[in-house]
Amino acid sequence: MKVNEIFYSLQGEGFLAGAPSVFVRLAGCPLRCRWCDTKYAWDETAGRDYSIDKIIQAVQESPSKFIVITGGEPMINSELPQLVQELKATGKHITIETAGIVFIPDMQCDLMSISPKLSNSTPTETALAAIHEDSRLDIAVLRELIDNYEYQLKFVVDSQADLPEIQQTIKEIGNVDTAKVMLMPQAATRDELLDKSLMVAGMCKKMGFAFCERLQVLLWNNKRGT
Ligand code: SF4
Repeated sequence: MKVNEIFYSLQGEGFLAGAPSVFVRLAGCPLRCRWCDTKYAWDETAGRDYSIDKIIQAVQESPSKFIVITGGEPMINSELPQLVQELKATGKHITIETAGIVFIPDMQCDLMSISPKLSNSTPTETALAAIHEDSRLDIAVLRELIDNYEYQLKFVVDSQADLPEIQQTIKEIGNVDTAKVMLMPQAATRDELLDKSLMVAGMCKKMGFAFCERLQVLLWNNKRGT
């Protein structure tokens, strides 16, 4: 598999924020979101070849039960189910971080961390924007994911104007447990995070959604590999 990076840190986002975790970042993502903070992992060749055994050996160097398989978009990788199965056999807790654009059945993952992409993620370049708009949201796939996996649903919020789109997306998916919905400020730096957090917190209180912190931004200002 093409692995962009493997590093040990704290989970920064979601209901497991703060849990010491090993991040396995797979290469490749077709979406090209405007504010993506892992652009270095977009290309499917943006990594080194690792066998599954080598990945397992690398994650076992850290004293953590929690593994986060991220990207890029890990669900486009055909070897993902095998990786999850073999990691699970070592007793690990597996989170998969995904934009929710591909459904894979029957994986032994413990948490599907789904971040559906709103229109605030559309790239500014016209050619990229067209591809992004075609593929950023697949309601049927999102429904399959939440019906088949333990999940959390994280929406990246740029401004209050995003709220109707979030409500509409949840309505279209249907059957969403609102206790599993989180709103997360769109922020690449600590200053941006602090600027937007109160606004997002207000939206969370109004809607009864959870606030999603971003510890990697707050603690390390989004420095790669921290
Ligand atoms: S889906 Fe995630 S990895 Fe892919 S471009 Fe968007 S933010 Fe970046």
